Amino acid sequence: MSFMGRPTARRNYGKTRSAVATIARERIEILIAQAKEMAETDKKLSRRYVDLARRISERTKVRIPSELKKYLCKGCAIALVPGRNARIRLYAHNSGIVITCLECGTMKRFPVKPRRGSPALQHAIKPYIAQTEPFSKKNSTND
Ligand SMILES: [Zn+2]
Repeated sequence: MSFMGRPTARRNYGKTRSAVATIARERIEILIAQAKEMAETDKKLSRRYVDLARRISERTKVRIPSELKKYLCKGCAIALVPGRNARIRLYAHNSGIVITCLECGTMKRFPVKPRRGSPALQHAIKPYIAQTEPFSKKNSTND
């Protein structure tokens, strides 16, 4: 009878879940750090670490922090180390930040367009625009 209902099984679910999340996050961070370290010397192992980190994330519903996720290749699952197996370029006027995996060529894009109505950004940009104005209007005497 006491085996059937298992009344205590879910009582501490909230606590258990947060403990699981803490451990999962920790392990994901360790695995990705290891994956980065191994990205050059042992690609196979690096991919395995990334795979494990992703699996922990899936099972525990703990997200891989975006700062770490940025440096995981979607194409071949290797950890990306800028300057070693990844190329980072900034195309400010169209695609934004582009991270290219040099192993398989997969590209990740992170747009850098300022959010509309972001006052902080407008303030940052305005003085620069004012400064460049005299140069662009140099040859026009119409206005
Ligand atoms: Zn790749």
